[in-house]
Amino acid sequence: MSDRATSPAYTVPVTRLTVSILVHTLEQALAAAARAAEAGADLVEFRIDLFADNAARVIELVNRSALPCIITCRPTWEGGQYDGDEQARISLLEHVGLGETGGASGGRRPAYIDVELAAYQSSANLRQKIGLVVDHPGQVRPTDTGLILSSHDFKTRPADLYQRIEAMVAAPACRIVKVAWKARSLRDNLEAFDILRQKHKPAIALCMGEEGLASRVLAKKFGAFLTFAALDAGSGTAPGQPTVDQLKRLYRWDRIGPATRVYGVIGHPVGHSMSPAVHNAGFDAAGHDGVYLPMPIPPEYEHFKATVGSWVDTEGLHFRGASVTIPHKENLIRFVKDRGGMIEPLCESIGAANTLHVRDDGSLLAFNTDFAAALDAVCDAIRINRGDLRGKRVAVIGAGGAARAVVAGFASYGATVVIYNRTMEKAQALAAQFDGKNVRAAFGGGKVVAARLDKLCDSCCEIFINCTPIGMYPNINETPIPVTEMKSWGPETVVFDTIYNPIETRLLREAKAAGCVTVSGVDMFVYQAKEQFWEWTHAEAPLEVFRAVLAKKLARG
Ligand code: NAP
Repeated sequence: MSDRATSPAYTVPVTRLTVSILVHTLEQALAAAARAAEAGADLVEFRIDLFADNAARVIELVNRSALPCIITCRPTWEGGQYDGDEQARISLLEHVGLGETGGASGGRRPAYIDVELAAYQSSANLRQKIGLVVDHPGQVRPTDTGLILSSHDFKTRPADLYQRIEAMVAAPACRIVKVAWKARSLRDNLEAFDILRQKHKPAIALCMGEEGLASRVLAKKFGAFLTFAALDAGSGTAPGQPTVDQLKRLYRWDRIGPATRVYGVIGHPVGHSMSPAVHNAGFDAAGHDGVYLPMPIPPEYEHFKATVGSWVDTEGLHFRGASVTIPHKENLIRFVKDRGGMIEPLCESIGAANTLHVRDDGSLLAFNTDFAAALDAVCDAIRINRGDLRGKRVAVIGAGGAARAVVAGFASYGATVVIYNRTMEKAQALAAQFDGKNVRAAFGGGKVVAARLDKLCDSCCEIFINCTPIGMYPNINETPIPVTEMKSWGPETVVFDTIYNPIETRLLREAKAAGCVTVSGVDMFVYQAKEQFWEWTHAEAPLEVFRAVLAKKLARG
């Protein structure tokens, strides 16, 4: 049977991209199905929970749909919105497609109808009536409309998950097995992939919520029967559904296959990260068979270790690396150490790594692309080599994580670094750590000292680097440096703001007006992504693509 009986040229895709539509009116649902077809979906699911009072209209919906469809009338007791009579619901499904006379109005049948396992198990009437046709006494065959038996848990992974699956597999009328549950962590996705790999029957195994995104995007990699998408943000029918546009464009659905390599950004929170947009666009431009996902992991090391460890160890997942951000930069170093992997030496003295590479042989490498990115952003702006930084005077404002990488990087190349920070003790501790030591030996290590923040105006440095969040969105009217009081600033001064949102901070705007050379945090972001990209793909990063993606995302706010 084909999904699309009306189109002989139509070839059934391996994993159907399915847009789920909550039906309010006939015209709204038909328009949504037409948009789903335009957006590149293969199937639509009509959720008729609120539209189940008139079978003729449901049949009309099936007949006029731009795409083959699944009909689902989800009752409230399974997380849906239908609260009517159960017998009426079953009669409707039988009439629409799952009975012998289904699609009785003479038109198309739905390609599939979804019925909950619990309803199927508890009703002998239902088991007799739907999904199977009696051709001759004693001879049954499935109806043309395929029966999806489904089971959902919106709170957690059900303890009897595998019993539920076995029951579906054993049901003769069940064409497709569907299980969906709320992911407790990223690890639950791995169980969904296992279920898909068992292949007793075509299967749908999805994890709900932010942690379940991988099961939705990688459904195609593991040969799921389908994945669900929302037509627009906010119109999803289950927690964590990406939009069809995100699946198609951001996560490159059409390119995903069994060998696709998986990468991600590990953080908490991580939903705001620009890295998925940047790296996926980069993979696309470079023709790299990879997909890059947000990977939220709670802050504690035990979570990091268990989750990242299980992703690294899962054969066939091809998890090959991650960008690692707050609060996991220290955890990454500990994890790679625990596993006997390699840690870039400067990254150890910085105490933070931002990149994990899982090599094809399973060995691990942790490194830090932030300091190299800061160096390259400044050197490119003034057209010098890193070696030319020797003897330059650099003022770093802030003494947190970003400042640490910046101080280590510039001191490694022989610059003299002065750290200005609100909390003087932190500036002093940072200076003590990198003053002529703990840096790359090649250039001997520049002098690193701490100074009082209120002395910044008297600074005789030629490069100023903001490593505080002052001026970052939404506090865009703030500035860490009173530019009007910086009497020495002019064309020889370089002002670098590590903040990238907004692209031009108040500090950079005022520094530009004072004639200084300005460097945006976007450059640092682009360069740190470039180093990661090279390590993972051995392809030159498409920097203009990175910049364009960032500019577009930042323009949206
Ligand atoms: P962090 O570890 O929290 O450190 C923040 C630093 O800023 C601390 O030294 C803190 O001073 C200082 N600070 C914060 N608020 C202040 C205020 N109101 N007045 C004076 N000082 C203040 O943060 P981080 O990880 O280093 O990140 C800092 C910034 O770097 C971020 O906002 C981000 O925009 C930027 N960044 C950019 C990139 C990139 O790729 N472009 C990468 C990483 C970071 P105390 O020590 O006194 O608390």
